[in-house]
Amino acid sequence: MGFNIAIDGPSGAGKSSLSKCLAKELGFMYVDTGAIYRTIGLAVYNAGISPDDITDVAALLDKISIDIKYIDGEQHVYLDGEDVSEQIRVHIISEYASKTSAMPSVREYLLEMQRKLARENDTIMDGRDIATVVLPDADIKIFLTASAQQRAKRRFLELEQKGQKVDFDTVLADIISRDERDSNREIAPLKPAADSVIVDTTELDFQGSLDYMINIIKDKR
Ligand code: C5P
Repeated sequence: MGFNIAIDGPSGAGKSSLSKCLAKELGFMYVDTGAIYRTIGLAVYNAGISPDDITDVAALLDKISIDIKYIDGEQHVYLDGEDVSEQIRVHIISEYASKTSAMPSVREYLLEMQRKLARENDTIMDGRDIATVVLPDADIKIFLTASAQQRAKRRFLELEQKGQKVDFDTVLADIISRDERDSNREIAPLKPAADSVIVDTTELDFQGSLDYMINIIKDKR
């Protein structure tokens, strides 16, 4: 078993950018599980299946292959052999990922893939249910959060930088509806584990959040 750090929290709390940076610093593998759920969202979208159709989505899982590979330390996701790391970032795919990730068939399909990575490597794995379901024995568990307003602001700037045209109110509304869906679903809902350390980054900038997390890891290692 590798040394595993589980980072959970809602969208836009800074999980991926902070985890990526921490992984580099510690020499760990960074596993962005959201990207893997997004790949399924993309597969469903490409197949023209409704993201609410439990039966069709479950049937599709038997027909697709999903892989992750690391190129220069960066995680890339592949759908049927094609690198889709960019395509999964478009706005509509967030919605598809959020809806399909609530389905038991989808979560089951990805569970072993995530556990295998953690068995074979030292990882920083980020997601929604890493500390509670995927790696309940993770060495360190952090729940990263921030106010919805602040998270929407960060996501809005990120999308704007990528040249995607969206308005702030839409981003905020999407964040709130995804939070609600992620937190209230029946299986693997978004919540901290009993032994997760809660880190609220509303008032912290990137460096402040990073320093805070490094201190938690130092204390526990
Ligand atoms: O983290 P990111 O926003 O890329 O994740 C996309 C969607 O995938 C989330 O809205 C969430 O519904 C789902 N997800 C999940 N469990 C994870 C990671 C992501 O349900 N471990």
